[in-house]
Amino acid sequence: MLRLSGNSINNGIFIGRALHIAVQAHAADTHCISEGEIPAELKRFHEAINSVDADISLDLKNSKLGNNDLDILASHRDILHDPELTKMVETSIKEQLHHAGLAVQESFKKIVSQFEAMSVESFALRAADYSDVGTRLMNALSGVSGTLPDNLESDHIPIVSEMSPSLVSKLAHASIGAYLCARGSYNSHASILSRALGLVAIANIPGLQEKLKDDDLLIIDGDEGKLVINPDEETLEFYAQKVQVVELLHQKLEKLKASASQTADGKEITLYANIGLPEEMAVIENLGCDGIGLFRTEFLFISRQNLPSEEEQFEIYRQLAERMAPTPVTIRTFDLGCDKLSPFGLEVPEENPYLGNRGIRFSLANHEMFYTQLKAILRASAFGNIRIMFPMILDAEDFAEAKHVFNHCQEQLYSQGVAFDSSIKLGAMIEIPSAALEADSLAMACDFLSIGTNDLVQYTLAVDRNNENVSRYYIQHHPAVLSLIRSTILSAAKYNTPLSVCGEMASNPTYIPLLIGMGIKELSINPAGYFAAKAIVQKCDRQLFQLISRFNFSVSVREVEQLIYRDLKHYSTIQE
Ligand code: PEP
Ligand code: MG
Repeated sequence: MLRLSGNSINNGIFIGRALHIAVQAHAADTHCISEGEIPAELKRFHEAINSVDADISLDLKNSKLGNNDLDILASHRDILHDPELTKMVETSIKEQLHHAGLAVQESFKKIVSQFEAMSVESFALRAADYSDVGTRLMNALSGVSGTLPDNLESDHIPIVSEMSPSLVSKLAHASIGAYLCARGSYNSHASILSRALGLVAIANIPGLQEKLKDDDLLIIDGDEGKLVINPDEETLEFYAQKVQVVELLHQKLEKLKASASQTADGKEITLYANIGLPEEMAVIENLGCDGIGLFRTEFLFISRQNLPSEEEQFEIYRQLAERMAPTPVTIRTFDLGCDKLSPFGLEVPEENPYLGNRGIRFSLANHEMFYTQLKAILRASAFGNIRIMFPMILDAEDFAEAKHVFNHCQEQLYSQGVAFDSSIKLGAMIEIPSAALEADSLAMACDFLSIGTNDLVQYTLAVDRNNENVSRYYIQHHPAVLSLIRSTILSAAKYNTPLSVCGEMASNPTYIPLLIGMGIKELSINPAGYFAAKAIVQKCDRQLFQLISRFNFSVSVREVEQLIYRDLKHYSTIQE
């Protein structure tokens, strides 16, 4: 038996068997090669073709697919050996000095967008085939596999070097309950999605991959960030009992479903849920929540190679609106960029993507994509209570620019006689410090605001939310962050503009009493933490408000920590 520690990504206990798996390739990095490296890159490219060819042969041999599907696989081999494509990639390596991965990515991207531009359905399918082959080639070049292994079973605990949102989604689809990753941070999108989908996970265990063999019996203790390898009987029994206690607590909290979301001194607190994938809807319906405060629509991109069409989006938004009506569904327009890239999207590789073409900037720069999404949302708004929220808004002018596109879209639908909710509410996320500092003008211009603490912390403290090496600087309760939250609360109150918090702070028991005490009246929570959040809300009382109203926020981090970990601790502790 061996005990190891790491960082918890999601709470919970899971007992299962280890299985090492390779992760899907990300977009190729953009560095160029020297002329001397050209022959080696050409060789790598041709080796990758041979390796994918062998994979396809294996798929064809092992496949239980019908004839049509087999034809598709066989056609992928034709794409792989398409002489024109091969020439394009080779030219890109020789003339633009792209390394093989970048050359493949760029060449396939060009072909895929040509097919996508043709508004014939069969060409769209062709685009998907090309994308698929391109992804396989890129994976072969980076030495990883993009699909889950065939022998993966629901009691397996996958062990990966790094997690991506698309892999989380694939694991959840495959009914996997937990995973371990060598590198990862609590605030990455992969981690947020893991919590939303209920996957127990730990990251950053030193020597993780070397210490585990496939089929080792593992206990993951996500509450403590601990891993037990090949436990003895006593330990196994201890954790089996713990699983039962957690289950009982869960059942107890679920009983809160019918109770009001109200503080002990009678203040109503609106509790929304965050959603990333439409599949989470069943869980959300079971919460009896006050609506959806954040739908991260960019997750519609993950696990796929092309943009979702207007019809596809409309269907998803309509179903959500209908199922949640009359409560609101806040649809955040695509927040693409950074770790939410699709392998063959529209993005141009950037040196510093978090400060680059991300969120609303990306949508404004890709008008057709933005238009398609806004039209789909507007059409769906006729079927329920939809609100639209723009991510990464810089200031009121930025919001006005997005609203201008929205207005144009509305006019077009109106002239075509298409039904939509003409009083649909438009909001902005407060997640860049400039937006918080300009909250007055944004509160005046917007129908509602929502604080995205994940990015607000990252940009205020200049600390990458995904970089575990600097995680000690990622202090969500830093007085600088709290001061921006406080001034946003004051601005929203001044203009009577509804304000929520939808970042992870709203789902974290430690911060819920603090936020409520500061005057936040709406929280949008990761579904897994919903009932716990409600239990905490119900404990908040007059003393809490008094304590926080007397607290001077211009203090050190240590003093804030005394407040939250000592004075407010009893509000955030839930009894088992
Ligand atoms: C945030 O930044 O807090 C937020 C809710 O958006 P995301 O995590 O999707 O960037
Ligand atoms: Mg954000």
